[in-house]
Amino acid sequence: TPLSSIRNFSIIAHIDHGKSTLADRLIQRTGGLQDREMTAQVLDNMEIEKERGITIKAQTVRLDYTAKDGKAYVLNLMDTPGHVDFAYEVSRSLAACEGALLVVDAAQGVEAQTLANVYQSIEHDHEIIPVINKIDLPAAEPEKVKAEIEDLIGLSTEHAVLASAKAGIGIDEILEAIVAHIPPPKGDAAAPLKAMLVDSWYDPYLGVVILVRVIDGVLKKGQQIKFMEAGTVHLVDRVGAFRPKIDVLAELGPGEIGFITAQIKEVAQTAVGDTITDAKRPTAEALPGFKLVQPVVFCGLFPIDANDFEKLRDSLYKLRLNDASFSFEMETSAALGFGFRCGFLGLLHLEIIQERLTREYDLDLITTAPSVVYHINLAHGEGMTELHNPADMPDPMKIDTIEEPWIEATIYVPDEHLGSILKLCQDRRGIQKNLTYVSGRAQLTYELPLNEVVFDFYDRLKSISRGYASFDYHQIGYREGDLVKMNVLVNNEPVDALSMIVHRSAAETRGRHMVERLKDLIPRHMFKVPIQAAIGGKVIARETIAALRKDVTAKCYGGDASRKKKLLEKQKEGKKRMREYGNVSIPQEAFIAALRMG
Ligand code: GDP
Ligand code: MG
Repeated sequence: TPLSSIRNFSIIAHIDHGKSTLADRLIQRTGGLQDREMTAQVLDNMEIEKERGITIKAQTVRLDYTAKDGKAYVLNLMDTPGHVDFAYEVSRSLAACEGALLVVDAAQGVEAQTLANVYQSIEHDHEIIPVINKIDLPAAEPEKVKAEIEDLIGLSTEHAVLASAKAGIGIDEILEAIVAHIPPPKGDAAAPLKAMLVDSWYDPYLGVVILVRVIDGVLKKGQQIKFMEAGTVHLVDRVGAFRPKIDVLAELGPGEIGFITAQIKEVAQTAVGDTITDAKRPTAEALPGFKLVQPVVFCGLFPIDANDFEKLRDSLYKLRLNDASFSFEMETSAALGFGFRCGFLGLLHLEIIQERLTREYDLDLITTAPSVVYHINLAHGEGMTELHNPADMPDPMKIDTIEEPWIEATIYVPDEHLGSILKLCQDRRGIQKNLTYVSGRAQLTYELPLNEVVFDFYDRLKSISRGYASFDYHQIGYREGDLVKMNVLVNNEPVDALSMIVHRSAAETRGRHMVERLKDLIPRHMFKVPIQAAIGGKVIARETIAALRKDVTAKCYGGDASRKKKLLEKQKEGKKRMREYGNVSIPQEAFIAALRMG
């Protein structure tokens, strides 16, 4: 395909503003699929992606479009991951394009999540075409939203298109705007191959599929290619594009986006952002911007039923086949037995993996407190170690200082909720950096310790603002903090799965909250059960669960035998979902519920 007839673009949108609906319309309009093949949201093909309305893997679709000028164009639409946890993947997808459609809901206006991606898009020198979507809604205020785009983002709305993806309004105008305003890619077909590995996933039929953007040179079947960062060589056995159905092509030239397969067994061998070159005639320089993605949030996953350990391990292996950004290694806990310490890109990523294990692999799991990675600077010049699990915290005597990761958060909130959001940030040790008002909404910038955000910050933000606040963040490095390990003791025994690292100033509040929660969550036993939170040997909070006096079946008066049997069975059923600590049973829900700060 000649460069002049290629257009590569992504769609930037806040969740629910209509990205998927618009993508489907564009596919339909350009004839990629027959009407009867249009199932809802073609691009989000994982069940969880559909349910949550987010994209986890970058996807592309090649559209053949004959413009009003009579010329045939190849448009590559790149759907990018829609969540802060996958910010690096988003940055690579954007780097593969020359332009973007900025889809904004005409009734909702611009949201924080959108802003973060728009700024990234601007950094990549993209031509951005605003699409004011949902103009069919009675509450639509397209002119107001246009003004917002100009004021907030500083983006001209001269070429903005008013559209309704749902009603099919403005679709031709969008296609024409793409051809007219997004620049064609540049590249040299005669130069050595240089392509970017945009994303990869495991397909049961094809094996590992790699999404690529060719910069220079040509990629074809039978070629020996080299991944420059990984240092590995592979033989290309298939080259193609998604229309959205697989279309095998002879080659991919400069400026093109498509896929390759190369008999690669594991996604872990393919690093997003890596440079692909010709093994025999390599390019001199790799592409800029490569970053090794590393998990930032860790937690333990333990099977409720110890017999499920093997099944859990196999399931984790299977999930990792398709997701190299999550990690796991075996862990033993005094209380929970054998399980795995798992690393994730963020809380949403954790939730997705947890949900898939439960739903697709039918596992009952206990998740321990999520923790960030701390840097422990050891005393006596013994260097720094990374702490992934509070249970592994060295003796405080051996620690010089502890550093924790910080983030910069951008929060967008309607005026009436500002006060409570400020308080929330303040309670979480936030440092306010900026506060501006734009069209009745406040835009806040805060620096926060990641540790204070991973638990329930986002949930709190949403509930305080009744869903109107939006939130986005990126990491800004490590800072020293007065951090201590808090242990929880149930019946005088430490429960390792509940120990956590907290800031000293918050320890007492957190400790009290934890023991109060546990008091409600742990059922009564035949004896008194003390629950304590402690730092080292010092108890900072305590509650006691009173002893159970009567046998559960006593109230049946011995009369109704079947009722008695039912009660006992119910009790047994309950036991299955409990964990025994010494002689105390703790229900599964307690582990997660106790960690919510409320
Ligand atoms: P995404 O999260 O950005 O991918 O958004 P979706 O495409 O999934 O759309 C979110 C919701 O908005 C769905 O219920 C769509 O049917 C609806 N929607 C999308 N575009 C329009 C539109 O132009 N008008 C109206 N009224 N609803 C729309
Ligand atoms: Mg969507």
